[in-house]
Amino acid sequence: MNGVDLHTHSNISDGSHSPEMLVRAAVEKGIHTLALTDHDSMDGLSLAEKTAAEFPIKIISGVEISSQWSRPSTKKTYGVHIIALNMQDPEPLQQVLRQQQKTRAARAIEICQLLQSCTGLDLYADVVAKVDGIADRITRTHIAQTLVEHGVVKRAQQAFDAYLKEGKKAYVKFEGIGLAETIDVIHASQGFAVLAHPTRYGLSATNIRYLVELFAQQGGDAVELPQRAEPAGTRQMIDRMVTLHQLKVSIGSDFHGDHMPWIHLGNVPQVKEGQVGIWESFV
Ligand code: AMP
Ligand code: MN
Ligand code: MN
Ligand code: MN
Repeated sequence: MNGVDLHTHSNISDGSHSPEMLVRAAVEKGIHTLALTDHDSMDGLSLAEKTAAEFPIKIISGVEISSQWSRPSTKKTYGVHIIALNMQDPEPLQQVLRQQQKTRAARAIEICQLLQSCTGLDLYADVVAKVDGIADRITRTHIAQTLVEHGVVKRAQQAFDAYLKEGKKAYVKFEGIGLAETIDVIHASQGFAVLAHPTRYGLSATNIRYLVELFAQQGGDAVELPQRAEPAGTRQMIDRMVTLHQLKVSIGSDFHGDHMPWIHLGNVPQVKEGQVGIWESFV
């Protein structure tokens, strides 16, 4: 715990806390610098900032963007999450997010259609009800919860394993903005581009190395350090890549509230000597 958490979700995406509850919880944890990084949306920012005005905490604008990259040698495309932080001019990024949100809403319909053909259940209305009717906000977490509520699976994780993850019957790829364009639009908004959780995409070590190198070549600013719970060897691999490509580091818990109770707000990895935190660049 060092008072900085740059990766958190509210109920604007798949967190359980409202932006207001999230800020209050962060203050209680002694966090002084908090980024709200909902999936493809900055809609919670104003409420978070309004709440923060009463407390000794600084809110950093943020968003976790569903992006994609590919290896020219194999032509395969992979999903990747890029966190945008500290935007001074949100408009260029907002334009892209509006498209991302349309993609998200359309994908949710497709996923529900595939689920209907495997389970016989039409879940869409119940899924949309989880996001107060705003279909742009639907994530696979909401769909997983709906599957639990209908008794199709016992736990949300089983919904991913049986239906929603890559290779399963109701998997629909998120056709998001490309990596280079993502970094460019973040910079056009005068923000910083952070490669989120590079070791959590199920990539081989070779592909992780390739991704970090590509991200650095395309002008990315920082890499998120692996969580404390990840193996020491994983952390060492990322530390080496950060040094090699002269990248800054970011730290965040990826807090989702009650949906993922094992993740604690403010529980972030330790920064090693010589590593430069991206938050030191915030204005
Ligand atoms: P989406 O952006 O709609 O694809 O949803 C992605 C979110 O689903 C992630 O941010 C996680 O919160 C959750 N998620 C993704 N993969 C898994 C998984 N294998 N098990 C549990 N939750 C997952
Ligand atoms: Mn999530
Ligand atoms: Mn993510
Ligand atoms: Mn996240």
